[in-house]
Amino acid sequence: NDFKDTTNTNPVRSPKKSHVDSKWGDTTPYASKKIVQSWVQLPDGNWELGTTIRTFDNESLLVLDEGKVLKVKTETLVPANPDILVGVDDLMQLSYLNEPSVLYNLQYRYNQDMIYTKAGPVLVAINPFKKVPLYGNDYIEAYKRKSVQNPHVYAITDTAMREMIRDEVNQSIIISGESGAGKTETAKIAMQYLAALGGGSGIEYEILKTNPILEAFGNAKTLRNDNSSRFGKLIEIHFSETGKISGAKIQTFLLEKSRVVQCSEGERSYHVFYQLCAGAPPTLREKLHLKSAAEFKYLSQSNCYTISGVDDAEQFRVVTEALDIVHVKKEDQERVFAMLAAVLWLGNVSFTVVDGENHVEPVLDEGLTNVATLLGCNVEELKLALSTRKMRVGKRNDTIVQKLTLAQAVDTRDALAKSIYSCLFDWLVEQINKSLAVGKRRTGRSISILDIYGFESFERNSFEQFSINYANERLQQHFNRHLFKLEQEEYIQDGIDWAKVDFEDNQDCLNLFEKKPLGLQSLLDEESTFPNGTDLSFANKLKQHLDSNPCFRGERGKAFTVRHYAGEVRYETTGFLEKNRDLLHVDTIQLLSSCTCHLPQAFASSLLNQSDKPVVGALHKSGGADSQKLSVTTKFKGQLFLLMQRLENTTPHFIRCIKPNNFQSPGTYNQGLVLQQLRCCGVLEVVRISRSGFPTRMSHQKFARRYGFLLLDHVASQDPLSVSVAILHQFNILPEMYQVGYTKLFFRTGQIGVLEDTRNHT
Ligand code: ATP
Ligand code: MG
Repeated sequence: NDFKDTTNTNPVRSPKKSHVDSKWGDTTPYASKKIVQSWVQLPDGNWELGTTIRTFDNESLLVLDEGKVLKVKTETLVPANPDILVGVDDLMQLSYLNEPSVLYNLQYRYNQDMIYTKAGPVLVAINPFKKVPLYGNDYIEAYKRKSVQNPHVYAITDTAMREMIRDEVNQSIIISGESGAGKTETAKIAMQYLAALGGGSGIEYEILKTNPILEAFGNAKTLRNDNSSRFGKLIEIHFSETGKISGAKIQTFLLEKSRVVQCSEGERSYHVFYQLCAGAPPTLREKLHLKSAAEFKYLSQSNCYTISGVDDAEQFRVVTEALDIVHVKKEDQERVFAMLAAVLWLGNVSFTVVDGENHVEPVLDEGLTNVATLLGCNVEELKLALSTRKMRVGKRNDTIVQKLTLAQAVDTRDALAKSIYSCLFDWLVEQINKSLAVGKRRTGRSISILDIYGFESFERNSFEQFSINYANERLQQHFNRHLFKLEQEEYIQDGIDWAKVDFEDNQDCLNLFEKKPLGLQSLLDEESTFPNGTDLSFANKLKQHLDSNPCFRGERGKAFTVRHYAGEVRYETTGFLEKNRDLLHVDTIQLLSSCTCHLPQAFASSLLNQSDKPVVGALHKSGGADSQKLSVTTKFKGQLFLLMQRLENTTPHFIRCIKPNNFQSPGTYNQGLVLQQLRCCGVLEVVRISRSGFPTRMSHQKFARRYGFLLLDHVASQDPLSVSVAILHQFNILPEMYQVGYTKLFFRTGQIGVLEDTRNHT
């Protein structure tokens, strides 16, 4: 299958074709009639297949599938593929690689539950939103024996496994896509395959059990996905020389902490809270003073407690069992649950005004006392930590105690809840990593699976989208460069002049983010360290310094727009500085370290030891953050840098997950939505890259065989190369439009079209 013509010229438009059309008339038997099918875009934006029945000057008359006749401008028609190519399992096999053809091919397969399709080296997975009969031991066996060839997560995982062993190179499986597209499910399917192939020691079972734990603590119901991951994850699975799993290591990125204290109507906080409230056994309930979810403010604010089809109480048992399996001791599990209860009770702490200056104090009720009991701290100290702030002022650094207003006190309370939760999450990951740690006898070969948030563009985009989209620019560059390299290798192998192929890159956008001192991130960090910096002054600074950058546009007020590879995104700077600083007051850390319980103490020391954790208050100058501490942006950038470094030393395999509709429902395929995702996740980019080089390739033999009979003059030598060159000359194909390789001819897009037309109508 070395022939593919990505020509984009419209056959209906070519004068030769209309001549051919009229020649046929009505006397030609139907079967031999060349039916010209094209895509026509209807007013609703969807593409439909039409058959041209007549062509006028610049208009065509088409009949659609259901018999409707339509007159359209010929130039708006897009060529469709011949019937034999309908539903091919690799999009690159399509003769016409245009958007409607890609969309239709995927839809055709999706309708038959063939949710996987290749796009060259990339696997496209469309979420079925229902059980599809594609998984389980029989399928795993079949892919292992290679008795099935259909694209599948199993197949790509199998390739990764074989290449790891064959080439002795670490592998990675990079999964991306929008929220709800199926990344996490896909990652689990890949893990299952690895466990089945590399299992035996029992550690694979532990690795699989990390999924319910991390999902309980890091996933939540959102409007887009009932089980949305609110963190990024890389799991590195290690293998012995014999290909058996020897251990694993998990790294997480940017947990959405704000969800602990705040979530929108119809969404939920992290699953584990509801699981605990619904599933804790009576003794534990009593010990932790648990109530039902509806009685905790943090959980009741969004008016959503259950997920259809999910039994939280049952899930609680699943999670505790999984914790047992990854060797989190029972007493530690109880400590974990106590921290969760403490967070919930913190949300119930309320404040009353105590003086004429609107200073507040926490109300001494069961909320406050329960928090103190669960953390193991003194109620008075807790009260002080929630209502005052120690500061150092003046030349002599005198300590003064500032009383807090209601808004400040609520912020302090919420900050405490968020940091307890995020410390708990990190602590759990650490425990899991200890349990899965690879022994000393490691060979170092591994397969990493990356399940990370895809590109996001909402009505309102904030710091989170800013960070996520930056990560996606980085991953996209990795993706582009990899594809570029694959192409390059093929050209070089065939002795083709590589310099004639150029590719676009998203380096400009990455520069906009990363450049020092005048890039988005540096300017954000700089403004974050100014005590008087505000979201508005930040926005103005961006406009002042970056307005000439083609990837940037300043907007009115506090907004700016970035031109990403996947489209323009408008960011509102509201909250940027605060989220980037992520300050934790030293009083809060001191409170945690004063606790008699084990976990809060551990959290306090990890908070203090993290040199990247900005701490303000008595230990540091009051006012702004200490500039030597790392901001969230800088920390994330560092994490990503290490991630990219790690990925660059692996052979990557890409899976792009696509969500076919916004209702999480089976059987509905929204073309516009799919198209936009294909664009965002780079599938159309794969197509574009392949088009921008010499995408049509044909061996000398095949080319000579296929078109040789069109030659008008006799060619002295009958060897395929001479025949091929003679054909190229006869048809006046310009030298810059093709390259002659050792074994193949390489053509620019569309060059084969004329030859094919002539051949078909001779
Ligand atoms: P997020 O970015 O929000 O974490 P995600 O891309 O990880 O989203 P998933 O949680 O993996 O999305 O998938 C969402 C839902 O889609 C799943 O809960 C499941 O119901 C369904 N789903 C995804 N993939 C499959 C599949 N292969 N077979 C059946 N159902 C699936
Ligand atoms: Mg997910």
